[in-house]
Formats: sequence, structure tokens, C-alpha cells
Amino acid sequence: MDKHPRILFIDQAKDVGGAELSLISIAKSLPESEILAFVEGTFTDALEKNGINHECLNLDAEILSLSKEKANLIRIVLSFSKLIFSMLKISSVIKNFDVIVFNTQKSLILGAIAAKFQRKKTIFFLHDILSIDHFNKFNLLLINIFTANFCDVIIANSRATARAVEKLNPKKKLKIKVIHIGISQKIELKNDNKIFTKKSLGLSKNKIVGSFSRIARWKGQHILIESLEHLPKYIHCLIVGSPFFGEEAYYGYLQQIASRPILKDRVHFIPFKTDPLSLMRLCDIVTHNSTAPEPFGRIIVEGMLCKKPVIATNMGGAKEIIRNNKSGYLIEPGDPQLLARTILAIFSNKDEARSITKEAYETAVRNFSEDKMTARIKKIINNI
Ligand code: UDP
Repeated sequence: MDKHPRILFIDQAKDVGGAELSLISIAKSLPESEILAFVEGTFTDALEKNGINHECLNLDAEILSLSKEKANLIRIVLSFSKLIFSMLKISSVIKNFDVIVFNTQKSLILGAIAAKFQRKKTIFFLHDILSIDHFNKFNLLLINIFTANFCDVIIANSRATARAVEKLNPKKKLKIKVIHIGISQKIELKNDNKIFTKKSLGLSKNKIVGSFSRIARWKGQHILIESLEHLPKYIHCLIVGSPFFGEEAYYGYLQQIASRPILKDRVHFIPFKTDPLSLMRLCDIVTHNSTAPEPFGRIIVEGMLCKKPVIATNMGGAKEIIRNNKSGYLIEPGDPQLLARTILAIFSNKDEARSITKEAYETAVRNFSEDKMTARIKKIINNI
């Protein structure tokens, strides 16, 4: 392959999630590449803000609303004509590039046939655990067909995501490279915590535990809120993030449990922020409470780089980032009392927490550097 292949990344998301933030880091290091987006939203806003070459197709919302959980054969057949139209539009962009990197399952399904037909090199950047915990059977079948037949290389963001895709295709020898997500170390230098302080939030006398994921039931924000019922009243929590993928009902449920008398004024909801780390810096602890295996968990590394004790659940990518009681705290999922005990243990054993946080910071710098991730990805793209 040419030393400077023309690279197109495709991601259909309207809003920014971890996969899109990781893609932005990679695209920044490949200034000649382009990102193809499907609809305007916080994702295209972020591309604009970061000065990344991109094109938006403004595709029909119906195609994109085929969510992980709800897509089924009938809906897909009903949307068939729109589907074909969208695929043709994507195909007309693909023809100008040499390497096509699909950053999501949906972009793979919509673009991979055109890419193969035009003899392009294809890479699938896998950010999800392809299992029944996260996808329905029909979607898994579709993804299975595409990963087995339309990808030259799969880049998996953790061993957990790699194992799941291998399990989905047990007979096929897939070419999979595991590359952990890297996070910019600049986050610890950018000490711009001027807007938010404990004082400005009226929480000077409080300890704060923060959650920084998009709002989704499997992200387990309710576990953190319920853990406060077992903790002294001066301990509050921040729930930072928005319900991007149809999880408004769950957001309502979180607000309902937060209104229980014992929790009154102790749960602070803050909708999606483009700079969540300005809030993370004022937290005493960061938690990540997924109740299903986390594919990677950028927020865990971000907490480590912000020098905060991080508590995560003992599954999936979190286990590849944290060594329990050495560089963070891994607990069993779904148990608010256990989370409360772990939070109290951190507050009551400050020396141990300090040395774990130090080790966590060094681990994050050593193992999860953005430069290392982008260098490895560039190598794959240039040698495909
Ligand atoms: N995040 C954000 N604003 C928010 C809450 C979260 O930008 O209000 C970011 C967070 O800093 C992290 C990403 O969203 O980089 C979430 O990535 P993660 O891998 O933890 O979860 P995913 O969204 O991929 O499931």
C-alpha cells in the first residue's frame, strides 16, 4: 500500500460517545484523513471544533433510528429503499479513498459492501462487546456476516471486545489487533478548573463522588445514587452526562430515586459537557458502575490521569486497565452497599488511597497514551 493512503473514517453517530472521542484523537494525528458523518449533532460540532476534515451526508433519520436494541427484519425491510439510497450516497464518497475505517457496527453494515465492491482496504474499529448483553440476536447475526466477510483487519479496543468478536466467528480466522484506547496526557496539564469549584457548586463542605458516562441503564448510574443511602449525608454525587441513545426513561427514573428524602439535595445532575474533566477535577472519587462488561472505559483512564481514586466494576475492559487495590478498585457489579463500603474505605484510608492513585496515574501514562495508540493505528493503516 502507498505510504500515504487516502483514509476515510465512517461513523454514523449523531452524538459524541467514547468511540467518537477516540476517533477524533486518531483523526487529529492523520490530518490528511477525512471523517464521514451521517447527521448533524454534537459529533459534527466536535469535528468542527477540533478542525477535522469531515463531510456530513444528512441521511434519513429512520435509517439511523434502527437502534442496537430495536432493529429487526421488518423495520429493515420497510426502510429498504431509504437504505439503498443511503448506501449509494456512502458509496459515492468511498470511491475517493484507499482505506476505509468503519468506527461503528452501523457504518460497517451500511458501507462495507460498497467498499469491498470498489476493492478498498477495510478496517473495522471495534468499540463494543458483541454479545447478547449489548445487542439483540438479529444484530449479532448481521455483524457476524460483516465482520467475517468484509473486514481486512479488525482493531479491537480491548481484549474483551476481541474475545467477543472471535466467539461470534468461531470458525473464521479473523485478523484482529488489540489496541487499547489512549487518552491525551494534556488533561492533567490543562488546569482550567476556574469555572467549577466545590465552592461555586455550593459543596465546599462535601465529599463528591462523580460518574461521567452517558446516561444508560447498563452504565449503572442508579447504583451510585443508591449507594448514597448507605453513606453519611455530607457525601454527594455528580451524575454528569445525557441520555443520548433513547434512555430518557432511565434518566427520569434516576431523578425519581434521587428525590427520596434521604437523598434530597445530594445528587447533582449535570447534562453532557464537552469538558467533563473540569468537573472531574473537583471530585474526590470517580466511579464507573457498569452492570454489563464495559468494552474499554475511557472514563476510567481519565480518572486515573486526573489523579482521582477510581472504582470500576470487575468485568470487561475495566479489568485490563485497573489492577485491584494496586492502581484502583474493582468491585462486583450491581451492589450499592458494596460501592458505599468501598467509598468509605477510600475516605478512611487516605495513605493507601494516595499510593494507589499515584500508581494509577503512572499506569495511565505508561499504558494508555494517546501517542502510542495513534502510532499503532497509523502503522496498521499504512501497512494494510
Ligand atoms: N464524556 C463527556 N461529557 C460528559 C460525560 C462523558 O465528554 O458529559 C466523555 C468522557 O470524558 C469519556 C467518554 O465520554 O471520554 C465516555 O467514554 P467511555 O469509554 O467511558 O464510555 P462510552 O460512551 O464509550 O460507552
